[in-house]
Amino acid sequence: MKVLLCNPPARGPGCVVSPPLDIANLASITFEMGHKPIIEDLFIKSKTAENNLFKLFLNIIENNISETYQYLCGKRPFFLLDLCAEKIASMINEDNAEILGFTINSLQQFPYTKFFSALSIAKKLKEKNDVKIFLFGSFPPRYSAFMLKRFGIIDYVLVQDDEVSFRDLIRKIESGKNHQKITFCLREKSKVISPDKFTLGDMEDVPTPFFDKEILKYYRKLVNLVLPYEVSRGCVNNCFFCYSPLKGMGIRNKSLRKVVEDLSILSKKYKTKKFHFLDSEINFDRKYLLSFCKSLLENKLEIKWTALAIPKNLGKADIELMKEAGCVQLRFGAESGSERILARMDKNTNTKEMERILKDCKKTGIKSHLSFIVGLPEEKENDMVKTKEFVSRNHELIYSANVCPYNILKHIDLTFFSDIDNYVRNLVSKDSIKKLIKARELERYLKQFNIYSLDIIDVINQKY
Ligand code: SF4
Repeated sequence: MKVLLCNPPARGPGCVVSPPLDIANLASITFEMGHKPIIEDLFIKSKTAENNLFKLFLNIIENNISETYQYLCGKRPFFLLDLCAEKIASMINEDNAEILGFTINSLQQFPYTKFFSALSIAKKLKEKNDVKIFLFGSFPPRYSAFMLKRFGIIDYVLVQDDEVSFRDLIRKIESGKNHQKITFCLREKSKVISPDKFTLGDMEDVPTPFFDKEILKYYRKLVNLVLPYEVSRGCVNNCFFCYSPLKGMGIRNKSLRKVVEDLSILSKKYKTKKFHFLDSEINFDRKYLLSFCKSLLENKLEIKWTALAIPKNLGKADIELMKEAGCVQLRFGAESGSERILARMDKNTNTKEMERILKDCKKTGIKSHLSFIVGLPEEKENDMVKTKEFVSRNHELIYSANVCPYNILKHIDLTFFSDIDNYVRNLVSKDSIKKLIKARELERYLKQFNIYSLDIIDVINQKY
């Protein structure tokens, strides 16, 4: 059986120039199960395309959210989008694949442009060959049934963990047996069926990712190749503003043996020493992190890497060890310089602790990226003042930073499926505009100190 795995063109949060890990994991499983994966990466092709087709396609989606939604639900025609999607779909060589899968995840985020882009292209491919379509990308399970109910184009949605769900889907298709005890969501006739419970897999069963070397050439045209990898999965926190499907689910680590083996294989096979780790936070399990760094050193992997981290739970010696083991940058969810807001978030850290860690990173030579969030429901003017004071006190320690306006990052959320007009109204409401203005204000403040938003790939590809 042939399985097409597609990364659709997209814009928005998380869309960095690095090949998608979820596709690489599923491609590896497809081989493992004796089938052939066909990888199509329209995201990177859109970045290197010489014509404006992809740009036009994404502009149409961005400027017509409700219309695109209605079109994809089959409730109205949308000639221009249909035409663009048809042209893009014709670029895919699906090679008679029996099932076509689309990722809707970009670095654990879910921009609606990616979802619409995937469905528009899938719709054209389905019209041509009546193939089965599945979506994946560790999407929050509570939304999966909504997707199937609203959009007849989709046949299956993989749910946590993608790898467990995918192996199960392939087995069910191979056997042709009816779908009992499923670990994915599906539509059977007109009924949507969801698993009784969601299944978390064993991290040892996550395969060594497989990347298509022909597709990597497109990435290499734009940047030095930086490969994604996951050392652990999950999160022990439950920040109310976070949309990660893994929040509050605990941490699962891969064994050190597996991590070292995978990184060594990837580094040699794809000729890169640069990695970015997708873990929610690399330092949830400090003991494991230190053993991981020691293993990288003992095994002389000599890789350079970046990771997300919580601004706590890291001593100076830990940071020095991380640097020695190849860490170039840590990206911290600082969120706010106001103690009141940090406490409201249950962030479990404080500005004093953050400042100490920033100082240790600076002394050690690890670049710190801070992520701030503004426009939270209980935020007052004084909280913004405190955040600015925090930036002013620590500007020499902050290498780069970004500012997120709360709840309007154009991610898919529950309103997106239940009331699309309300979702669109929210994006342009007075309240959202106020949040955007606040975000721009803080960005301007950061710029006064020459602090800009640089993505992971920008930073790891700089000289150090
Ligand atoms: S720590 Fe990070 S991943 Fe976990 S809930 Fe908070 S923001 Fe989300």
